[in-house]
Amino acid sequence: MLAAPSGGGKTTIARELRTRAPETFGYSVSATTRKARPGERDGEAYHFLTRPEFERRREAGEFLEATEYAGELYGTLRSEVEQVLRSGKHVVLDVEVTGARQVRKAYPRPASVVLFVIPPSPRVLIERLRKRRTESEAELSRRIGIATHEVETARREIGDVYDRVLVNDDLETAVREVIAVVQGGRDGGGGGDGGRDAAQRAPADMTSLLSDFVRQLRSEAAQLKQSTGRSR
Ligand code: ADP
Ligand code: 5GP
Repeated sequence: MLAAPSGGGKTTIARELRTRAPETFGYSVSATTRKARPGERDGEAYHFLTRPEFERRREAGEFLEATEYAGELYGTLRSEVEQVLRSGKHVVLDVEVTGARQVRKAYPRPASVVLFVIPPSPRVLIERLRKRRTESEAELSRRIGIATHEVETARREIGDVYDRVLVNDDLETAVREVIAVVQGGRDGGGGGDGGRDAAQRAPADMTSLLSDFVRQLRSEAAQLKQSTGRSR
């Protein structure tokens, strides 16, 4: 399972996993009430539902977990997860921190692996979100605020909910690390990363990595607020 602040790279990593190893990984397509971004197709990126439809299906018990994020509903459909598991593949979930906690409860270790994905620095996180061009400046600011809270939450839940922190610097390396972790720590192929394998960090190192990340993210967010305020 992949959890990350918005812009961490979950969607990109999940897509790569499916493309590279379609016989090993299947993706659970979540449901959401948010509007589709350009290029997002219904049933592929998400099942895009109206709020009443989402709520009806939630009442009917169709979700393994569901939560509100930035004013919209998101949820993992039991049918999606079961379909992938029936085909004998690992199911990849792309969820925020509340969902990660709930799914971890439903699939305790070792039935699930929960990775928290962060970019190499908060600055890179903001740059990647900007480059993605899917949110307005106000929405971007809101997501950075949520990201700070999410990284804080993940820091407290390392070892409990999260097995690993994955630094998504070079995509190729990040994908190889996920494959290696899922395959039980074996090298996902290629190797040659020396001591840079972020997925192998000790819990104390992961905690301090996330503490530093939160501190820097707060300072980046404050600067961003100042500059957005100035440009108004
Ligand atoms: P999330 O699903 O966690 O919100 P995305 O997968 O949409 O994040 O990634 C956010 C942006 O960062 C996207 O524009 C994506 O192309 C870019 N990105 C993701 N991983 C990398 C990487 N390793 N190197 C460079 N850019 C990346
Ligand atoms: P986005 O709008 O950027 O696609 O997603 C916003 C946030 O919702 C991301 O952190 C993403 O991981 C999370 N998310 C997507 N699908 C689900 C889901 O099914 N359940 C939960 N809990 N979170 C989800």
